Amino acid sequence: KHQQQQPLIAAHQEAAQLYHHILVNTKLGESARAYLKKRQISPEMIDRFNLGYAPGNQVLQSFFAERKTDYQTLRKTGMFVEDQQGNLKDRFSNRLMFPIANLTGAIVGFSGRLLQPDDNAPKYLNSPETAIFNKRRVLYNYAPARQAARQKHRLILFEGFMDVISATQAGIENGVASMGTSLTEEQIYDLKRVTDHIDIFYDGDTPGQKAIARAVTLLEQTKQFQIGVIQIPNGMDPDEYRREFGAAGFQSIVKSGREPVIKFRLRYLRTQFNLSNEAERIDYAQQATRLIARLDSSVERTVYLKDLATDLDLGLASLQEQCDQDRQRLEHEQRPAHAKDTPPRATPQQR
Ligand code: ATP
Ligand code: MN
Ligand code: MN
Ligand code: MN
Repeated sequence: KHQQQQPLIAAHQEAAQLYHHILVNTKLGESARAYLKKRQISPEMIDRFNLGYAPGNQVLQSFFAERKTDYQTLRKTGMFVEDQQGNLKDRFSNRLMFPIANLTGAIVGFSGRLLQPDDNAPKYLNSPETAIFNKRRVLYNYAPARQAARQKHRLILFEGFMDVISATQAGIENGVASMGTSLTEEQIYDLKRVTDHIDIFYDGDTPGQKAIARAVTLLEQTKQFQIGVIQIPNGMDPDEYRREFGAAGFQSIVKSGREPVIKFRLRYLRTQFNLSNEAERIDYAQQATRLIARLDSSVERTVYLKDLATDLDLGLASLQEQCDQDRQRLEHEQRPAHAKDTPPRATPQQR
């Protein structure tokens, strides 16, 4: 298997070098250089992440033709699209190129970003699935972030490549990103091999918030992570935040902006209700109380119940009572089936 994959990986390495050379040293790369400058990505980051530029116009195809690279190998890289006659055409055209490495650091695919918005083409175009490229498995920047996480004992999960690069430029090197898909089981398995402390730092827009809720649920299901959520204001994304507040601002939100999952969940839940409507207020109060009931610490439960009481102008006592009932129901649900005919156990507060 390794024998078949080696030529594919070598071709990706060569293509990445060519794209990088075109970006950094040639006239063809001028527009992409200007684009990166506008986005305040430093030359150090361009080198470190081996960013490139794909002009299209068969530049990649000619490069490999000159090297007499095997046709079957080229077909299988996914770097080309094939016409009816089997001719290979450059897949990526006029795009800023991000080489995508596998878990051990070998380049196995690309993602290319348009330099200008275009209604007829996706903003990011990825390599197709190949023998070496599996989107469900990829975590951008995994190998370097794994090294950095050895010292920090935590990983940061971002939505996009640009966020990982921006963070690195701000001195935060323990960030990874999935390939724009929601977090997969395969990725969670590989996160587990690094650390059990994960901070989710997704975009502040509505899709980002939704994606946080999904990621939190998936990570919590494994019961193997301590999860934090870094909340970003005004619908910004981490890269935009760095440009607005600089490296120091970025470092400080990473260090001090982390919230426990319950805070995120309560805030997210609150956005789903119209609180000026009485029925919705009651519904929200009940669902929020149910979330709080899952907390093990009674001090924590009281803190969040108090916030909720103030927010909804409700008595704390009634929320406490509701919360106690929820906990009893939880206990009951969690009892193993064979124990159902024995008397219910005392709730933790009563013990
Ligand atoms: P940029 O700052 O360059 O606009 P971004 O990372 O902020 O990029 P988002 O729109 O927030 O982009 O999307 C997050 C991630 O989702 C991207 O990094 C990319 O991996 C993926 N993605 C976004 N748009 C597409 C698309 N049209 N096709 C495939 N993947 C996409
Ligand atoms: Mn986004
Ligand atoms: Mn974004
Ligand atoms: Mn962005």
